[in-house]
Amino acid sequence: MPDDSAPATSKSVKVTFALPIGGGTLNAMANLPVGRTTLTQLLPIIQNIENAIVARVADEAEQAGTPISCRAGCGACCRQMVPVSLFEAEALAGWMDTLPAEHRASLEARFHKALLALRDAGVIEKILDERWMKDRELTTQLAIDYFHAHVACPFLENESCSIHPIRPLSCREYLVTSPPVLCNDPSENQVGGVRLPIKLSRALYAFGQEIEQDHRGWIPLIFLLAWQKSGAKPGEYISGTGEEVLKMFIERVADSPPIEESQLIDSQGGQMIER
Ligand code: SF4
Repeated sequence: MPDDSAPATSKSVKVTFALPIGGGTLNAMANLPVGRTTLTQLLPIIQNIENAIVARVADEAEQAGTPISCRAGCGACCRQMVPVSLFEAEALAGWMDTLPAEHRASLEARFHKALLALRDAGVIEKILDERWMKDRELTTQLAIDYFHAHVACPFLENESCSIHPIRPLSCREYLVTSPPVLCNDPSENQVGGVRLPIKLSRALYAFGQEIEQDHRGWIPLIFLLAWQKSGAKPGEYISGTGEEVLKMFIERVADSPPIEESQLIDSQGGQMIER
């Protein structure tokens, strides 16, 4: 149960809330700002809730004899296309702006190199041809092509996530139970994963869909810096007191369709768990 145990201050209020997950409920506490808060500013609370859901699911997997095999130092899944909600993109772009110039320049160079490699592999062209978003087979093929380009996420350092505390929800939700070596090619190998009862990322995508009025509501992480240049501040569209924004988010989570078995994608005789 997440508990932001720091005492509430004159500028924050301690609230308890319940989140429906699967057949159960996650009871949690958080200190929320009383002043105007955007959905982007609420992300640390949402990340804590996600961590609690993942911890519960990991415990259940362990008890069932199929523990999560993901470990620091294994970045195999960090060569896939990573969906990032618009709000997480805003927060990550803001974080990058706070970095010393040298660190930021190094990250920008990695993004640039990765984009060039994906372009040379023909993957950028396929991402931009948005027909894949409405076609399951094209989606699967794009996931395979992206992975086969062997382009690491620019935030991956020494096979570990360099932004682990603020990494996207889709990365937190990717939980593998099969031997890590099979992740070297999930399109060929039987990669087993845990099915989360709910993915908080989906609620963020749903808000993004409303703002952008499209059917995606997220961007591929690799486009983060290009997206930042648009100057978009999507969090501004979902704002209120901290309590109001959290309530909107919880309602959106409750409205999210359940995660279905079909979201384990069969491909080329293998199985890819979906981000
Ligand atoms: S953000 Fe971190 S966990 Fe996610 S793909 Fe990149 S390196 Fe991996």
